[in-house]
Amino acid sequence: MKLIRFGIADKEKPGVEQPDGTRLDVTAFGQDYEETFFATDGIGRLQKWVAENGSTCPLVDKETRLGPPVCRPSKLVCVGLNYAQHAAESGMEIPEEPVLFFKATTAIVGPNDDLILPKGSKKTDWEVELAVVIGKRTSYVPLKDAMDHVAGYVLHNDYSEREYQLEREGQWVKGKSCDTFAPLGPFLVTQDEIKDPHQLDLWLKLNGETMQRSNTSDLVFKIPELVSYISEFMTLLPGDIISTGTPFGVGLGLDPPRYLKAGDLVELGITGLGSSKQRAKTYQKNDY
Ligand code: ZN
Repeated sequence: MKLIRFGIADKEKPGVEQPDGTRLDVTAFGQDYEETFFATDGIGRLQKWVAENGSTCPLVDKETRLGPPVCRPSKLVCVGLNYAQHAAESGMEIPEEPVLFFKATTAIVGPNDDLILPKGSKKTDWEVELAVVIGKRTSYVPLKDAMDHVAGYVLHNDYSEREYQLEREGQWVKGKSCDTFAPLGPFLVTQDEIKDPHQLDLWLKLNGETMQRSNTSDLVFKIPELVSYISEFMTLLPGDIISTGTPFGVGLGLDPPRYLKAGDLVELGITGLGSSKQRAKTYQKNDY
């Protein structure tokens, strides 16, 4: 099943994208895609509900804005340097254990919302990533059980301001957390629809030119390892998101480096997870 949320920002309603691409408004189901939904087998309940009631649900117009397919999660945990070639282009070694960092959850926006370049930003960069949505409370989960804790997957662009991230002291979080730096979607695809999450093509284009093209088979640390590993350091709650890292081809790695400017169009996608696009624009006083 493909879960969407649609409508005005911060007032989104839940929906489902059907196999033929049409979108159903499932407001009548009575629950949004938040922690309790995932914690109480919401996906199973919704599937059953749609089978029984889908024909009476209103359709969502194609032009309607999509929001992030998960209500604001408690955490957005990211994995750094998880593709060998990307570590090399960043001038860093492949880490011996996963590198973890946080992104502020206020950075989350809809898949096709504008990217707001932060005030004074000169080095805003792109990162196509496969993100994992957690389905149940996860603490000290052994590797063999880790996939039982995955609800599904979502496309993520881990926008990064490289000056803030690397030249402003301390943790990467400063360069990762600006508003609009985490477009998620178009939909959350449930785990049962993705046969092998480690065999997915991922790509990103800037103004029509391919910048990133890779496959999740190149992940250094695979999804079960990441879920289990992270759960040794913190409890993951239902709806929390783990972004698994970006492949080779970010602006930082180019010679000379190339960063986003107002008007640029970034498009990205992953097999089975759909595609998204963001137009970069300059920060205006009342944007956020
Ligand atoms: Zn990243």
